[in-house]
Amino acid sequence: MSLTVAVVGSGPGGLYAVEALTKNLPDCQVDVIDRLPTPYGLVRFGVAPDHQTTKNVSRVYDKHMQKDNVRYLGNVELGRDVTYDELKDMYDAVILAFGTPIGRRLVVPGEEAVGVYNSDAVVGWYSGHPDFENLNPDLSGKSAVVIGIGNVALDVARLFARTEAELADTDTTDFAVDTIKNAHFDDIYIVGRRGPLDGTFTRAELGELGELERGVALLKEDQLPEEVEADLDPRDLREKAANLKVLRSYIGNDPAANPVKVHFEFYASPKEFLTETRDGNEHVVGVRVERTRVENGRAVGTGEEFTIPADVVVPSVGYQAEPSTGAPLDEWGSIVENNDGRVEPGVYAVGWAKRGPTGTIAMNRKDSHGVVDLLLEDMSPDSDKSGRAGLDELLTSRGVRVVSYEEWQKIEQAEVNAATPPAPRKKFTSIQAMLDALDS
Ligand code: NAP
Repeated sequence: MSLTVAVVGSGPGGLYAVEALTKNLPDCQVDVIDRLPTPYGLVRFGVAPDHQTTKNVSRVYDKHMQKDNVRYLGNVELGRDVTYDELKDMYDAVILAFGTPIGRRLVVPGEEAVGVYNSDAVVGWYSGHPDFENLNPDLSGKSAVVIGIGNVALDVARLFARTEAELADTDTTDFAVDTIKNAHFDDIYIVGRRGPLDGTFTRAELGELGELERGVALLKEDQLPEEVEADLDPRDLREKAANLKVLRSYIGNDPAANPVKVHFEFYASPKEFLTETRDGNEHVVGVRVERTRVENGRAVGTGEEFTIPADVVVPSVGYQAEPSTGAPLDEWGSIVENNDGRVEPGVYAVGWAKRGPTGTIAMNRKDSHGVVDLLLEDMSPDSDKSGRAGLDELLTSRGVRVVSYEEWQKIEQAEVNAATPPAPRKKFTSIQAMLDALDS
């Protein structure tokens, strides 16, 4: 008898778990479930559209999906089409790999104002995530403020500053290309509550801000330290020194060199989104920030405040788990409650659902393989479990339109066929459009 495993989520964490399961137990049966028809999670919807090389990792995931004992069930949502308890009852093991898709809110007055869009929405909008097809952000103003100094913040700032030509070989959605090409920002601010060495951004992403066709990266020299503190571990020391070198290279940039000034504003903690009433709605017009200093790694307010003008604000302050799956979350609702990947008997968590939203795609491999090792230690097949047949019966009885791997391949081919070269694909941006393409 073979072990039956349901993997919920087809992003990197889930697919590396599939790799480990199928390698260690060639006769296991693995069902990969995703709430969208399209697989690969963050590779499709999180990795920036101008980072196509990174997205090529999906070719590796294709190989795992094509194994005889692996099935893909797209358009099946945990908590909507099948409950957490039902899945546990049907499979020997369940691996929760659904990530942390919800953008954390920056809880300050004015956060509901028109012109404030969280990074999950903005990234989803330019990446073609069906949840954000209708976001239609207003980027017609002069000043954009992105809050946070992680790589997502840098991605958003960079995409806002791109030209149409720079987006031509990307899979940015058509509506986002149209909006971005018509945007005429004078200023894009990247605002960190701590200092340049506390940023979670990385060298390559920092460097791209220095190579924008219509942008110029600017920062205040007095916000940069002379050097990186020596008591960091050697890897951190190297990474921080590399970041500092890139930031230093921006000192002395001529603000008039290009139309879009991309400012780094460190040591500035957001306190309020200032608004004014127009057409009966509150529109964001600025961000009131407090100058900080960093003490023992924490941002401490100095009492000095100032305002950054803003027609659009994108809080980009991390991610948390989706609450509606029925899986047990930690007390903050951030991640799945787990102990090194063990959730409860027969249930495991991998990827960002396990660890929180940090780290590179590659880091998930070792992590997911480690969790599968635990699963293999714990588990043995149970003949009372209905497995695949049970899930199929349940989904049929509920009228769920499951999208198979072969159907996903058709969707993908249709996207490739619809693209205007050098764009790699023109993404469907709604689930209905994907299903229509399959059923036409
Ligand atoms: P992140 O790296 O955790 O950055 C979140 C940022 O939000 C930090 O600067 C944090 O500052 C700030 N923040 C949090 N709460 C705040 C508050 N109340 N006020 C002001 N600032 C606040 O998260 P991310 O940028 O969403 O990235 C998630 C993961 O994806 C990261 O591991 C990232 O490297 C990865 N990623 C990688 C790439 C790439 O490799 N190209 C691209 C995109 C994302 P503090 O540090 O002070 O808390």
